[in-house]
Amino acid sequence: MIKKKIAILGSTGSIGKSSLDVINLNKNKFNIILLSANSNFKEIKNQIKTYRPKYFVVTNLIVYEKIVKKFRNKKVKILRKFTELPSKIKFDITIAAIVGIAGLEPTIQFTKQSKKILLANKESIICGWHIISKIIKKNKTEVVPIDSEHFSIKQLTNGYKNADIKKIYITASGGPFLKRPFHSFNKIKPKDAYKHPNWSMGKKISIDSSNLMNKILELIEAYKIFLFDPKKYEIIIHPQSLIHAIVLFKNGQSKFLYHDTDMRIPISNAIYDNQVDIKNIIKKNNNFLDKLKNIEFMKVDKKRFPIVTFINNKFLSKSAPIILNASNEVLVDSFIKNKIPYNGIFNTLNRVFKDRDFGKYAVKKTPGIYEIYKIDKWARKKTLQLISRNYEKFI
Ligand code: NAD
Ligand code: MG
Repeated sequence: MIKKKIAILGSTGSIGKSSLDVINLNKNKFNIILLSANSNFKEIKNQIKTYRPKYFVVTNLIVYEKIVKKFRNKKVKILRKFTELPSKIKFDITIAAIVGIAGLEPTIQFTKQSKKILLANKESIICGWHIISKIIKKNKTEVVPIDSEHFSIKQLTNGYKNADIKKIYITASGGPFLKRPFHSFNKIKPKDAYKHPNWSMGKKISIDSSNLMNKILELIEAYKIFLFDPKKYEIIIHPQSLIHAIVLFKNGQSKFLYHDTDMRIPISNAIYDNQVDIKNIIKKNNNFLDKLKNIEFMKVDKKRFPIVTFINNKFLSKSAPIILNASNEVLVDSFIKNKIPYNGIFNTLNRVFKDRDFGKYAVKKTPGIYEIYKIDKWARKKTLQLISRNYEKFI
């Protein structure tokens, strides 16, 4: 049997490692050709030794040099850029799991070089779906979104049209601060936000989940990937994170997709086209009926999660999402580095949206890659300016 050729972009992250777990259980079926990471030296070293990929892309220059030195005279080729990879090399499956807009260009490149692409990197969908989707059509690449909500929507709506659908609920756990008293929100520290009650994820998505920015990003992601009317979507709080999407059909039927809070479920189903026996991958007992008994749903409290007030065409259509995404990346990074308080994320985004130049950058319909970076750069600069202007107030 010919082994499937695999690439994992962002292999040292939470999604990257879960993907490696799934693939490694069936080593005889897969050939790991390429892995990539930014700067986690220890993990990169470990992955080269364990998985023996043909290529490892290390984007951080200092770490790249250390890794090159460490693996000199070894079989693995260490690259600093994805573009150094010969374009004739083709993959059967790529898992796009870099965090942030840094994943945009690699995702575009690997959509060209792969038969099937599992998309986790939501920021690249948000900023460049109009580019990625063109390549998908041209190259007939198979795409499976593995963000659990989108994976679920895809499964639930397969074979249905916009006209058949009444409503689509995207669930949000509400994160670690669902019940925390408001007056203490400004005391929230990064480590509090990392403690997601149900999922174990990377730092950025954990912070995005805690204030519901992750759901805004996911709404945009859904608008882009699926052709359903944006007005049909609603975010609903579901603290157990067991149901990822609910679709109400006009014919009176409703469907939801339930799976445990383990990303290896959407990842393995996407790899094996749903033909997987999950007990071979996840050992723990599922207690499905017991868990169903305790399922709750509730409306989103806008006072607790003011970020949902951004659900407005003005902020979520055309090139506005590029601004939202870039500002949010800067703000999350600043919060992680203790440069701004927790509420500074929402407050600063609000200011960016009110800036007199916002309208100029937010109205591009299908910006090319150069224009995307121009918009992204403006938003980052503006956000940093606002942070430094308000720094006195923040501390
Ligand atoms: P993570 O922070 O754990 O991992 C990120 C990976 O990207 C790492 O391998 C890192 O080395 C790499 N990376 C970071 N900056 C880079 C750069 N500048 N250039 C190249 N590589 C870089 O993140 P994660 O939680 O695995 O999330 C990855 C993506 O998947 C995000 O877009 C996230 O929103 C999405 N996602 C994650 C989950 C989850 O459960 N973790 C669920 C749904 C969607
Ligand atoms: Mg999700």
